[in-house]
Amino acid sequence: MSEVQVRGLTVEYQTSAGWLPAVAGASLDLRAGEITGLVGESGSGKSTLALSLLNAVPAPGRIAAGSIEVAGVGDVVRLTGRQLRKVRGGELGYVFQASQNSLNPLKTIGKQLLDLGRSHEVSDLRALIARAKDLANRMGLDGDRVLDSYQHELSGGMRQRVGIVFALVLNAKVLILDEPTTALDMLSQASVLDIVRKVHDENQLSTLIITHDIGAISEIADRLAVMYGGRIVEDGPLLDVLRRPTHPYTKALIGATARITGDVDAARPLPGRPPDLTTVARVGCVFRERCPFAVAACADTEPPLEAWEAGRRRACHVEPSTVLAGQPGTPAAV
Ligand code: ATP
Ligand code: MG
Repeated sequence: MSEVQVRGLTVEYQTSAGWLPAVAGASLDLRAGEITGLVGESGSGKSTLALSLLNAVPAPGRIAAGSIEVAGVGDVVRLTGRQLRKVRGGELGYVFQASQNSLNPLKTIGKQLLDLGRSHEVSDLRALIARAKDLANRMGLDGDRVLDSYQHELSGGMRQRVGIVFALVLNAKVLILDEPTTALDMLSQASVLDIVRKVHDENQLSTLIITHDIGAISEIADRLAVMYGGRIVEDGPLLDVLRRPTHPYTKALIGATARITGDVDAARPLPGRPPDLTTVARVGCVFRERCPFAVAACADTEPPLEAWEAGRRRACHVEPSTVLAGQPGTPAAV
């Protein structure tokens, strides 16, 4: 069962060249009890999609089309004002990118938790604090001490965990973590992700973890979605996608990741650069300029994201078997 259903989501930012899409027609399901990893290079639209799930795209941005149905909540795109504030941090727990720095430096963690509780009209604030301490303890923190601390008294890894406590303390059903381990050393990365997996399992959450590090996510996610140029280009069960990537971009990303290929020498960086809002192709496939498999159709028609096997979708004109075999055809002039 899907807890969250994103359909046809298009999100635009206003730029000097007009309103341009950072996410274009994206569809994605977050299923109950599953962790979905969302990967893609910088600028592919991951954070924009995450912010949309909370209807929190900052100006000058707007959700131009699509719907985001959350079980028990309705279409988040249509929520406003008080309803929206209640859902954010309530049913939908989140840790935004760079949220290490989003704590208030002037208040203790405990005071900020009380603020969160009040803003969500929690009547039993004592129970809220007890739950926060329990969550913190389970994350390997000293709950009493952390709640009495100011942000500067905590290490980066501790702040990340505190962020996750905030995301979960109001009994979220859906957890959205945007780059939760960036800026942490490898050891803290692994322990924060372990904790996320544990809390996720205990509470049967639907979790979305966003990262540009496909290696880190490969150890804890159930499903993998790959984004490029504002499009979801492939998704499916994690191991299946890692073993049999059928989108040339997924294949290239995996090939560039020694942690997955197990071979530091063979890991090839992706040639070329990802597009931004102004340079992304308006016609045809957004990946075609970097794609070794591109054929003539890729210049003319955008490939739709379609199911091709149970549980798997891809947006590519080239046959899955050709990409799997790794034998690019003769590139058409694209
Ligand atoms: P990263 O891995 O660097 O966090 P991302 O995949 O999260 O990247 P987004 O932050 O969603 O990507 O950005 C998607 C595109 O939208 C990028 O081209 C970015 O430059 C552009 N963008 C993001 N925020 C704004 C904004 N406020 N105004 C204009 N353009 C924006
Ligand atoms: Mg981002």
